[in-house]
Amino acid sequence: MTEHISPDIDPHRLARTLSGFNLIDGELVGARSGRTFPVVNPATGNEIGTAPFSEAADVDAAVSAAQRAQRAWAGMAARKRGALVAECARLLGAHVEELGRLVALETGKALRTESRVEASVVADALQFYGGLGSELKGESVPFSPDMLTVTTREPIGVVGVIIPWNAPMMLMALKISPALVAGNCVVVKSAEESPLAVLRVCQLLNQVLPRGVLNIVAGYGPECGAPLVQHPAVGKITFTGSVETGRIVARAAGEKLIPVTLELGGKSPMIVMGDADLDRAVAGAVAGMRFTRQGQSCTAASRIFVHESLHDAFVTALKAKVDAMKMGDPLDEATDIGTVISQAQLDKVKGYIESGRATLGAAAVECSALPQGASLRGGLFVRPVLFTGLGNSHRLAREEIFGPVTCIIKFSSYEEVLAMANDSAYGLAATIWTRDLKTALDAARRLEAGFVQVNQNIVVQPGLSYGGVKQSGLGREASLEAMLEHFTHKKTLIFNMQ
Ligand code: ADP
Repeated sequence: MTEHISPDIDPHRLARTLSGFNLIDGELVGARSGRTFPVVNPATGNEIGTAPFSEAADVDAAVSAAQRAQRAWAGMAARKRGALVAECARLLGAHVEELGRLVALETGKALRTESRVEASVVADALQFYGGLGSELKGESVPFSPDMLTVTTREPIGVVGVIIPWNAPMMLMALKISPALVAGNCVVVKSAEESPLAVLRVCQLLNQVLPRGVLNIVAGYGPECGAPLVQHPAVGKITFTGSVETGRIVARAAGEKLIPVTLELGGKSPMIVMGDADLDRAVAGAVAGMRFTRQGQSCTAASRIFVHESLHDAFVTALKAKVDAMKMGDPLDEATDIGTVISQAQLDKVKGYIESGRATLGAAAVECSALPQGASLRGGLFVRPVLFTGLGNSHRLAREEIFGPVTCIIKFSSYEEVLAMANDSAYGLAATIWTRDLKTALDAARRLEAGFVQVNQNIVVQPGLSYGGVKQSGLGREASLEAMLEHFTHKKTLIFNMQ
């Protein structure tokens, strides 16, 4: 499967080299118990390596290392910390190919369309935050002429970072970069399915950062994630994952009274008005639905509302575009779409597809084709499905599927579609496609989401605040404000000069 890969970036070899390790206090170490769990390539079903089954003792070792390192790290000039984080960006920039291949191997995301792109975004996020050290500014307050009153931005201390598997390196980078520049030390808990590429990122970053500043542990939620949230020395948790786990994390953080940032699910609407540019909207649906990532994105445009005048043409054109996408070996440059992450996820997605098919009046338009070839026979491939004829109240339009399944819902009036778009428990992202400025402005104002775009569907960008309302989460990421609001606290200092 991987015969064209040069030996120095052979992801199989790298996976074996990283197997069984956490990174604590600058050292690769196994779990105290010696236990490990397998890491599986979803394109073949083969084990590619192992990860340590970390528990409370391992978490405690990582948090203690972070705590020991934090005073000196926070004592460094903020621009110097930023300069080190920018140096990390340059280092990772030289390892994009290797990281892209490794994350493709463990997640099944296609190298050309997804995994390599993710690796470059990691370097971009570090670069962006690396330049923001001097923005950790306070204010002077005109409290009294006899007193000098100022505020400062102080680091929180030790930050716990909990990440999922769908874009593990990117989501980690969006959390660790601002946390580190703000003067915090970090313990990351990787996702069960994808512990290797993020470990490699942390290993590279540890070539630049002082020991203990950035630590990472692998493990399962209850045994490893929960002790991280509950650890008395952890002063903040930043989490990306499901709503259910987000609630558990928020509850545990509430018990300790520490702040949390939560980036949770979505059921993001895409509205295609009757005056939209059809070709652009169809291209936007392909990008927005993240078909190249098998729809495994919290921002996926999984509810596409199309005006009745364009509906049939839209479905035909979207099917043609997705049909033209090649499903196959994630490491093959010709592949557009790889696999879903796990058997459990595949079963869940198939369950939704069956439930849609069983609905009276619904039609399932299957796209693309399953890959052929003996080597991929055990692969977790699933054909993208466009559902038509399902209402906005159907469970496929209400629940987050996290797979390549989208509902295309016909509408006739603007007010009707706006009401349907907002009728969701989620509020992460939304797009509207129209040539009418008044409609665009009105919708941008009224759509209940944290990230709204008109006539485009780009992904999270360093510099733009990203996050949700309603059950999509708490707090924002990716921007200067995110660093200031979520990784520092404001201290008021009053100097009485009388
Ligand atoms: P997904 O359904 O996307 O796998 P989860 O929300 O279950 O999402 O997982 C996201 C991250 O949260 C993973 O790293 C997982 O191990 C972690 N996690 C799961 N349960 C807990 C928990 N009780 N406490 C802390 N972290 C957890």
